[in-house]
Amino acid sequence: MTDIKSAPIKIVTRFAPSPTGLLHLGHAHAALFAHAQAQNAGGRFLLRIEDIDQGRCRHEFEDAIYEDLAWLGLAWETPVRRQSDCMADYEAALDRLNRLGVLYPCFCTRKDIAAEIETAQGAPHLAQVGVEYGPDGPLYPGTCRLLSMPEREAKAASGVPFALRLDVQRARAITGNLSWRDLDRGEVLATPEIFGDTVLARKDTPTSYHLSVTLDDHIQGITLVTRGEDLFPATHIHRTLQALLGLSTPAYRHHGLLRGDDGKRLAKRDKAETLRNLRATGHTPAQVRRMAGFTW
Ligand code: GLU
Repeated sequence: MTDIKSAPIKIVTRFAPSPTGLLHLGHAHAALFAHAQAQNAGGRFLLRIEDIDQGRCRHEFEDAIYEDLAWLGLAWETPVRRQSDCMADYEAALDRLNRLGVLYPCFCTRKDIAAEIETAQGAPHLAQVGVEYGPDGPLYPGTCRLLSMPEREAKAASGVPFALRLDVQRARAITGNLSWRDLDRGEVLATPEIFGDTVLARKDTPTSYHLSVTLDDHIQGITLVTRGEDLFPATHIHRTLQALLGLSTPAYRHHGLLRGDDGKRLAKRDKAETLRNLRATGHTPAQVRRMAGFTW
């Protein structure tokens, strides 16, 4: 394990919740983890509100995030970056990727993709239509990558909604081999192709988790990204985007996920574990910090 105190760079970490519900113990763990990494190294701790999913995000949950984190005893630097205020940054990044020729419009609906995958699964004797699987399930079969330019233009002109996907093989051809530094696992080779042609701009919002966080971490000057181990594979895509867009590459560290008594990871539906509920039932911030795995 690398000792981050000996790292020459200033440690800047962030906590990046989505305001789609109340924070629970799992969030407290993530926030305290990021805060501790910065504090132990005399670094800085920032906050980011990940609210690109406007259909699910609520202002009252954002307010609750500030209140709950302060109650927990955390202090962060301002200004807070709110993704919904930064859509022009994401648009500029997409424009740059488009000029590199690594994006293509995808007109498929979820239903189209499911049908295509089912057909491919039902024809295992046809090797070329076999289904490949990645960290998030079956990979996009690449249907729209094969459309000609006139076909793409005609579909877009007729008003069929589309997402923008990364042509990962083209991206890989531009970036060559890449790696990043995980403070616990060492040098990790980037293999973005495990996700296939991932969506970088959704139909409902002209960005995506992957594009936004990669750009935000650069703009906020984050030098150490900390997040749950469930997001470890996402860095394969983020490292690729950093290379394509000329962004800085932070170091990474992943924490385990808190689980409920049933062994399942905590989720927003677990009302009993919300910081609000713990507070209402008489827990002190120190007790909750302890429950989240931190003592101070
Ligand atoms: N918003 C993400 C989450 O709540 C974290 C983003 C990230 O750390 O990359 O899981």
